[in-house]
Amino acid sequence: MIRQQPVTCGDDAKRLICELGAHFYTQGWVSGTGGGISIRHRKRIYMAPSGVLKEALEPDMIFELDQDGAVISGPDPALGYRVSECQPLFMHAYRQRGAGAVLHAHSQWAALATMIDEQAPAFVTSHLEMQKGLSGVGYYDQHSVPIIDNTARECELADSLGEAMASYPQAHAVLVRRHGVYVWGADWISAKRHAECYDYLFAMAVRCHGLGIPLTPNRASVI
Ligand SMILES: [Zn+2]
Repeated sequence: MIRQQPVTCGDDAKRLICELGAHFYTQGWVSGTGGGISIRHRKRIYMAPSGVLKEALEPDMIFELDQDGAVISGPDPALGYRVSECQPLFMHAYRQRGAGAVLHAHSQWAALATMIDEQAPAFVTSHLEMQKGLSGVGYYDQHSVPIIDNTARECELADSLGEAMASYPQAHAVLVRRHGVYVWGADWISAKRHAECYDYLFAMAVRCHGLGIPLTPNRASVI
């Protein structure tokens, strides 16, 4: 069971990445070795390897990086692990937003939400209770999450993700079309909360679209 406690040391961060990997696997967010998890503790950043089963991570598989993204320590090189493909994308959230944790989810709801309108530059939501789980966002706010186009390789998303973060300073996430979502927070607890609230909002948008229900109320009286 994941305990709601702040990270107090590097070993704590490594253990949490393993626990969160197993948990997010049950959500369908990191199946097929996809997705990623990273946590910062003070001046050190911890990341899982690329291309491994996220539900079967062990603390000694986790890489430790400095604030510039350089690997300081990691698993036995003989095992052949490479640091997460998401590394340059995670670093944008740490540098630009001072994040304490960043998640990358291959959520079907996130991918589907980007496919409702293939031209849309952003996912927009308002008047949904779960928006209140997003830091600084209220029920009546119109909240936007930028959508960037997918690329052949994960690392090639880094520049457009960094630009999207700069263009949407209120967002705690960036959607990647037909792919998934990057979500961050001030610490691992808020990153997890943001990821869950966004996933709920993406699911609502997709379900409303399928049912022909407007996502945003069209009655003037409720605005
Ligand atoms: Zn991905």
